[in-house]
Amino acid sequence: MDLLENIINDSIRFLSNRGYQEALSNAISNSEARFFNMLKRHGNIKELAKEVEETKKEVLSSIDYYIDKVVDSFKAANGVAHYAESGKDALEIIDKIIGDRKRILLSKSMTCEEIGLRKHLQQIGKDVWETDLGQLLIQLEGGKPMHATAPVIHMTLEQIIKLVRSKLGMDVREDESPQDIAGRLRVFLREKFIKSEVGISGANAVSADTGSVFLIENEGNIRLVTSLPPLHIVLAGIEKIVPTMMDALKLVMVQSSYAGLFPPSYINVVSGPSATGDIGHRKVYGAHGPREVHLILLNNGRKEANKNVFLREELRCVRCGNCQIFCPVWNHVANTWGGKVYGGPMGVIWTAITEGIEIGSEISQLCLGCKRCDLACPVEIPLSSIIHYLKTQFRK
Ligand code: SF4
Repeated sequence: MDLLENIINDSIRFLSNRGYQEALSNAISNSEARFFNMLKRHGNIKELAKEVEETKKEVLSSIDYYIDKVVDSFKAANGVAHYAESGKDALEIIDKIIGDRKRILLSKSMTCEEIGLRKHLQQIGKDVWETDLGQLLIQLEGGKPMHATAPVIHMTLEQIIKLVRSKLGMDVREDESPQDIAGRLRVFLREKFIKSEVGISGANAVSADTGSVFLIENEGNIRLVTSLPPLHIVLAGIEKIVPTMMDALKLVMVQSSYAGLFPPSYINVVSGPSATGDIGHRKVYGAHGPREVHLILLNNGRKEANKNVFLREELRCVRCGNCQIFCPVWNHVANTWGGKVYGGPMGVIWTAITEGIEIGSEISQLCLGCKRCDLACPVEIPLSSIIHYLKTQFRK
């Protein structure tokens, strides 16, 4: 069976699942109206988005310079910086850093999904848990995230109750509320947080001037993943680099606004390991947070894409997922229309970047060409033109 046939079959299964359709349509109803209201309420967000667009263009025009700058700044902050050419290289680096440590926690990261990190760590015998509640449900389901920021956008409460019962053996009643389930999962994960040896996160932005990693969230799990275990590993695509901390702050404000999560409950900034000089005036590491912090900058097709006049535009993406919400195809089949990880309009292009143009061009055939995605993007990525270019690259 070829790729397109597989996608069509998965999409048909998704379409025939009443629960998925109900959950998805409830989640996205009024989302466009909410989005335009947000723009009205926070008049400066559009200006900030324009600044982020220009900043990203500047970084991409000198990407090697900025990679070197991040590496230098991160080292200066007593972190350990690595560069991974491919997903396989990143996995090897992570294996070496982790060594014999067994208990690993992940915060939600599409870049970790991109390299198949959780499955890889499980295969080599590690005890690995996702800590974002949506992503934990995806781990239990054994599927893939269905939206860039809302992984279980396709699941009803009823489906979640069944999943938690069957996979975690919890005696959940049918009338339990989302608040009740969140409470149960919080208790389940608390013990894992306390005993964890390694925390692995992604990054929303990395500032070149200080080597600081910016992470936004609402749940609070990223705070714990990046501070409780003695070892923290950050995996960041090279497109996450921005010149300064101020640029990074602007980017996370734009990302969370367009993702419908503004203001985010938490903005985490990690600049190297935890340290104190309070005891005998001598600096020691690992006061309350990690003793060791590693940053892995991942290429995995991004530099090649940066040379392609169409694909390089997508490297500005801040992964807000708004183009998915605006897309009539994604509205019905979510990320079943996509590659191994990424789906919807941004996903077609990210698949071309990370899995190759051949695969991206095949998936692009299912785009309707309505151009609604172009209206959604904060950083003016001409999504429909890039997808059209991919369509022209399709060879049967
Ligand atoms: S392509 Fe634009 S709208 Fe889509 S996820 Fe990326 S930044 Fe958001």
